[in-house]
Amino acid sequence: MNLWLESLDAPLQHRAGITDDLDVDIAIVGGGFTGLWAAHFLRQEMPGAKIVVLEKEFVGFGASGRNGGWASALYPVAFDRLVIEVGEERARNVREVWRRSVPELGAELARHGIDAGYSYGGNITVARTKVQMKRVEAEFLAAEHAGEGAVRLSRDQVKDRINFSGAVGGLFIRECARIHPAKAVRGLASAVERAGVKIYEESEVLSLRPGASSVAKKGIVKVRHLGIIRRVHATHIVEATEGFLPSINSPTRSNRSVVPVYSLMTATEPLSPEIWNEIGWSGNETLTEASHLITYAQRTADNRIAIGGRGAPYFFNSKISPEQDRDPVVHGHLRELARSWFPLLRDVNFTHAWGGPLGISRDWHPTVSFNETNGYARAGGYVGDGVTSSYVAGRTLADLISGKESEFTRLPWANHQSPQWEAEPVRWLAINAGLKVMTWADREERLTHKESLIARAMAPLLGH
Ligand SMILES: Cc1cc2nc3c(=O)[nH]c(=O)nc-3n(C[C@H](O)[C@H](O)[C@H](O)COP(=O)(O)OP(=O)(O)OC[C@H]3O[C@@H](n4cnc5c(N)ncnc54)[C@H](O)[C@@H]3O)c2cc1C
Repeated sequence: MNLWLESLDAPLQHRAGITDDLDVDIAIVGGGFTGLWAAHFLRQEMPGAKIVVLEKEFVGFGASGRNGGWASALYPVAFDRLVIEVGEERARNVREVWRRSVPELGAELARHGIDAGYSYGGNITVARTKVQMKRVEAEFLAAEHAGEGAVRLSRDQVKDRINFSGAVGGLFIRECARIHPAKAVRGLASAVERAGVKIYEESEVLSLRPGASSVAKKGIVKVRHLGIIRRVHATHIVEATEGFLPSINSPTRSNRSVVPVYSLMTATEPLSPEIWNEIGWSGNETLTEASHLITYAQRTADNRIAIGGRGAPYFFNSKISPEQDRDPVVHGHLRELARSWFPLLRDVNFTHAWGGPLGISRDWHPTVSFNETNGYARAGGYVGDGVTSSYVAGRTLADLISGKESEFTRLPWANHQSPQWEAEPVRWLAINAGLKVMTWADREERLTHKESLIARAMAPLLGH
């Protein structure tokens, strides 16, 4: 049901699970983009180190194999807020690193022969109402302030690129690429293996206990494969499980560091050349509407439209389960939304529907942390901007762990401490209220043609 996993170049085969206790230098938990980029750059920084990746299911099972395929320069914290928190120079540096990383990521995939349909076409945000146009203008000014090359688009300029129904204007941002995420993450895993990293799949980490470098005591990761528990002794343990983090026991961090919030996607069948002639979209730009609720779309390399959005409920106690990957109401809204953007889709089949959890920290700050004393490292909390961010996280983790001071270790996310989320039931009530507000706000604006009062009132509580 996940388009990306169903359209790999080769059938998905699982790697072998762990069958022995191990003694290694670095144990990475999680076979998604974060874990694999970390393995990739650690291999370069520490060529002699013995590195293993422990993955509960298979590489790309998590958000990395399910996402919207936007390799964007988006950073979850808005530029203005970042300036207040870390100063103008460091905030500009963040923006600069993320912008640069979009083409770098493409070059890195190409260097390893990974064909993941990378297309550096930029991003278009479309406004369909005056109120949305106001938000687009605010986004333009914010981008200008951050030194980004955003371009305002008139109604006709939007239509010239994409025949988006009801568009009144928009914004083009250069730094965004489209990818096929599952091809990217699985290709990266093969590249990492070729470089000498061992990946164990179907190997579930049950708990992890970091060691103590002062007495050269290694940490212990308890891993289960086929019902048998193995121990991996590791100098460094890297937790790269993003939205899944609350499900693993660790004495070093709270299970309330991030919450899993679901984003869902659907995709059409491949569209005919006649339909594409009408729609245009020949530049492969990633696409969104300036609504309150986050939506995102891409024209896939095999000529479908894949569209996703938030709105699925948060489950009590950060629960994650396969049933949450599908939600008839949210998937129905996504299909309706796609048809309202492109009425030509009315008779087109939507062949796939899926979803997955992404990680959000309490202050919406992503984190890459490393504790030199016990060798424990962690990265995640990208708030849905994880494709490029996980690439930068891999570089940051490698430099932090290898002890190399660099522009990455000076980024504000290095060792950033987010506050914990509230205990239940407050967390459940607050997150679901926030998600509902964004849905209501869009409806309110459609009905009143005025800026949503409810969204304005809640904006300071809802992050960026
Ligand atoms: C539907 C959807 C759409 C998205 N769209 C975009 C987008 O367009 N652009 C963007 O930038 N970001 C997007 N994101 C966010 C982005 O995909 C993630 O932030 C990013 O992939 C996180 O990568 P990761 O490696 O940290 O985590 P994941 O890819 O989630 O990997 C974590 C891995 O840990 C494994 N794991 C979990 N528990 C255990 C355990 N106990 N033992 C061992 N392994 C374990 C999981 O099986 C999983 O493979 C989207 C996310 C979703 C869900």
